[in-house]
This record gives sequence, structure tokens and C-alpha cells, in this order.
Amino acid sequence: LQRNAGEAEFHQAVHEVLDSLGPVVAKHPEYTNAAIIQRMCEPERQIIFRVPWVDDKGVTQLNRGFRVEFNSALGPYKGGLRFHPSVYLGIVKFLGFEQIFKNSLTGLPIGGGKGGSDFDPKGRSDAEIMRFCQSFMTELYRHIGEHTDVPAGDIGVGGREIGYLFGQYKRITNRYESGVLTGKGLSWGGSLVRTEATGYGVVFFAEEILKTRGESFDGKRVVVSGSGNVAIYAVQKVHQLGGKVVAVSDSSGYIVDEDGIDLDLLKDVKEVRRARIEEYVKQRPQARFITGSTIWNVPCDIAIPCATQNELNGDDAKVLAYNGCTIVAEGANMPCSPDAVKVFAETGITFAPGKAANAGGVATSGLEMQQNASRDSWTFEYTENRLQEIMRGVHDRCLETADDYGVPGSYTAGANIAGFIKVADAMLALGVI
Ligand code: NDP
Repeated sequence: LQRNAGEAEFHQAVHEVLDSLGPVVAKHPEYTNAAIIQRMCEPERQIIFRVPWVDDKGVTQLNRGFRVEFNSALGPYKGGLRFHPSVYLGIVKFLGFEQIFKNSLTGLPIGGGKGGSDFDPKGRSDAEIMRFCQSFMTELYRHIGEHTDVPAGDIGVGGREIGYLFGQYKRITNRYESGVLTGKGLSWGGSLVRTEATGYGVVFFAEEILKTRGESFDGKRVVVSGSGNVAIYAVQKVHQLGGKVVAVSDSSGYIVDEDGIDLDLLKDVKEVRRARIEEYVKQRPQARFITGSTIWNVPCDIAIPCATQNELNGDDAKVLAYNGCTIVAEGANMPCSPDAVKVFAETGITFAPGKAANAGGVATSGLEMQQNASRDSWTFEYTENRLQEIMRGVHDRCLETADDYGVPGSYTAGANIAGFIKVADAMLALGVI
């Protein structure tokens, strides 16, 4: 605790993983002898840097940039960049730590890392976003590379920002190194399905859970929090599979639309106009905008939190259970607090943790890297099938591992143990480094 003082989210993420590892350590004394757990909790490298930039009024602004290169036992560091005012080292470390296990679970050869800045993109002009991204990359470029560290997007970093970051990387290095970033545009090295991947992936994961009960999304009532990249495509896939999403949110409040969320309108409000969610209601009078309450009060069969960490607490979990919700699948990273997870266990709600359920984004980034390396581009259908196959694999690996270690049905234990063992074995093989 003292070693990482004040990093509450990092502590939370580490506790959650270590809680599952008792049976693993008991079975594998070699991990303890080689201090695998201690080494896994210590990033290989942490980079913190100054990001100065000039706003539209000519005023110099200053932000802090981060890249935590956590673990490269399985492959180059891989994980997104987050631009949000709440970003500090503890958030980047929690995300980077989670990423190690998530990437391991996908079965692809990628290590774990994460980065970002306390820059707030809200209300900034396109030119300001570009200047910020250019300044950020002017330092970051020396630490990343196709075989070293491959960033992608996260909160506040989408296709536009990846474009400006890639442009500056290319300019500084004079190399068209497509594999240095993922989430690129389709005309400059991006992969089909990457934009949709995390949202589709979490729904595919929930579909696998439903299949174990002989059920499907058909006719299910679903609540999705957030209205960013992950949320929008989760809504789309739920609708394609016959379910109905009745509520989505942003940081200003949530909307309830009993006719089912109109996806084209939502995309127009959030992706095109970059406006607040309340705008949706102006064009859809039957919908309601609600503020000062929580989206988890809306009754549903399945809840898919896709906004941010700790957005769903113990009280929310009780309300979900009371209203008959039976599945919570995390599209965001660690959106459910430890109290919430406890309530899920007590009330029989099946809980799919983010490191398994939202692995579709990074998995498709892995597929983008494969296409870049072979100078190929795959069709939407082929790539989506690969994504679905990977999510099925992650789901089955969690359940099988949970069974093997005496915690049947626990996706959390299964994900933590399966993700851990692969990385631990690679670390053992690579020696004390
Ligand atoms: P976006 O920036 O596209 O969207 C984030 C959404 O969450 C917005 O609707 C935003 O609302 C809302 N939000 C953010 N912070 C808060 C907050 N403090 N309170 C309430 N709402 C908030 O990000 P993504 O969709 O890419 O990411 C969402 C989550 O999914 C994150 O946890 C991310 O780490 C995780 N994730 C993303 C992946 C990806 O491929 N993009 C991959 C795996 C996980 P507002 O606009 O008002 O801020």
C-alpha cells in the first residue's frame, strides 16, 4: 500500500485479482519462489511527461501525460490512451494492470500497458485537440513502436485523436509504421470492426452466458450506461440480436426510451454533434431525460455498464436485483464497485468482469496488428466472426478455469486465474527480468 500510496483504483484492481489467486499459489509454489505476483504488480516502466500546448486564444496550457508499460511477457505492451480530467497515475496503473490479464485472456501475443492525460477534451475545438495530440506524441513517440508498445483509444480518444497522434508520429519518425497504433481509420491502416469491437464483444459475451441457460437476447430488456464508443455499439448489437435497450447515459444524466433507443439519433447526437445526451429527447418526445438519479433504477433483465470505473455501487446492485436483473456484463473497465460485486454474488446475478467481457476491443486491435503486419485487410464479416470466436473462447476459458480451481460459475475467478497463469508461465520462462 505504501509503495503505491494514494492510488486507490490501482489498489482496488490488484485486490480484486489477488483475491482469486489463493488456489493458484497453493498449487504452484514456483510462482511464489520467483516473486511472480510482486513482479506482476510492479510496472516494468512508468513514463510521466509534460504536455504543453497553445489554445485558440493564444494562451499556453499545460497537462500531464502518462504511459505505464506494465508487462511485456507475452508481447509488446498494448492498451489505450485516456484523455479525461480525472486521469492520474493511479487510474493509469489500474487500467494497465487489468490490461495484462485481459490481453492474456484473448489468447493473442500482447502484453499490458495503458496511458493518457488529464487533458479535458470537452468544449475544445478541433484545432485545439490536434495541437494537444501533437504535443502529446512529441514526447510519447520515443517510447512506442510496433514491437515495443502499441497504444489505442479509450475514454476521450477515438478515431479523430488517433489520426492526429498517428500523423505526428509519422512526421517525427519519417516512418509509415501502421502497427504503432490501433484504432486507425480505414483508409490508413485501420481494421473493419475495430470501432464496434468492444461494444459488440461485451454483447457476444453476455450472449454466451445466456446460451448456458438455453436463452437468447430475444425480447430481453437491457440498460447500457454511457453513450460513447463502447455503449453505442453495445446498443447496436443488442438490437441486432433481438433485445431492446431502454436507457443510455452520459455524465449529465440518462435517457429512458421505452420504444427502444433510436441508434441513428443517438449516434448523431454523440458522434456527429458531440452534444449532451439531453439533445436526444428534443427529437424523440416519447423519451425522458433524467438527472440527479441513477440509470440503474431503470428495470432491466441485463445491465451493461459502459461508462467508467465505479459507476455502479452496492445500492445500485440491490436495485438491479430487486428489479429482476440476472446478468451484469462490464463493457467499461471496473465499473462495478467491490460492494456491487458482493451484492451480485449474494443475489444470484451472473457477473462478467470487464477484463473478460470487454476484451473484444483489444482483441480486434490484435487483429488490426495482424493485418498491418501482413499488409492485408479483412472483410467486416470475417473480422466480426473472428471477434465472436475470440469472445466465445474467452467465455469458455473463464468457465473451464473456474471449474478446474474449485470455483464453478465464477467468471471473475476464472478470468483472473486464466489470465494470470499464462503471464506467470511466460515470466518464469524468461527468467528474473
Ligand atoms: P468514450 O469517451 O467514447 O465514452 C465514455 C462515455 O462514458 C461517455 O458517454 C461519457 O460521458 C461517459 N462517462 C465518462 N466518464 C464518466 C463519469 N465520470 N460519469 C459518468 N459518465 C461518464 O469512451 P469509451 O466508450 O471508449 O470507454 C468507456 C469505457 O470502456 C471505459 O471504462 C474504457 O476504459 C472502457 N473500454 C474501452 C475500450 C474501447 O475500445 N474504447 C476497450 C475496453 C474498455 P460524457 O461524454 O458526459 O463524459
